[in-house]
Amino acid sequence: STHVDTDTALAWVRAIAESVAAHADQLTRLDAAIGDADHGINMRRGFTAVVAALDAARWSTVGEVLTKTGTTLVSTVGGASGPLYGSAFRAAGKALASPEVSPEELLAGLTAGLEAVQRLGTAEPGDKTIVDAYRPALDAFEAALRDGADLAGAARAAADGAEAGMRDTTPMVARKGRASYLGPRSQGHQDPGATSTALIFRALAEVADR
Ligand code: ADP
Ligand code: MG
Ligand code: MG
Repeated sequence: STHVDTDTALAWVRAIAESVAAHADQLTRLDAAIGDADHGINMRRGFTAVVAALDAARWSTVGEVLTKTGTTLVSTVGGASGPLYGSAFRAAGKALASPEVSPEELLAGLTAGLEAVQRLGTAEPGDKTIVDAYRPALDAFEAALRDGADLAGAARAAADGAEAGMRDTTPMVARKGRASYLGPRSQGHQDPGATSTALIFRALAEVADR
């Protein structure tokens, strides 16, 4: 498909929920090394509640789906990741108040989401957070569109960019969140939040490819 419509948005969020559930143990194991061993638990609880909320009503715009996702994450995830991802989905939802959006509009919505994460969490690239997967994902999405890629190609590039960014967090010293309490001992571990961000972009690539 060339555009993202409301059904694509629903399919994306459902795919995130499935992937987060399938990778919950991995996310929690990563968080056990440099945090408090709950990231997979937090994400699975949040996205389980999101799917239940989305199942309970009908949705007519991409923005409604993403906004409901965000508000549900904020209200069901206690950890740092709940408000951060919640703000991102709410900001993206606000920007995408239409039944169908182009790849360029999707990029603008996802960019609004990253801005919301950085406004709330004040993390910069290199701080070993969600931002370290999210920023390269958007850079790759934008570059792919500039090179003439369609939605599926741009989403695939974004997922590849997110995964590269995720891997690049391993040598970083954490400067935000619980992992920052470890200082240099946070080095040598992949960031849990950057890992869940990579799952979110891979889910988008899978759905965009259908
Ligand atoms: P908590 O740390 O409260 O237990 P989670 O374990 O669910 O919450 O999420 C931890 C992840 O949140 C980290 O791996 C990191 O990627 C992300 N994170 C923490 N603080 C920030 C921040 N200020 N900005 C961006 N991401 C952050
Ligand atoms: Mg945690
Ligand atoms: Mg916690």
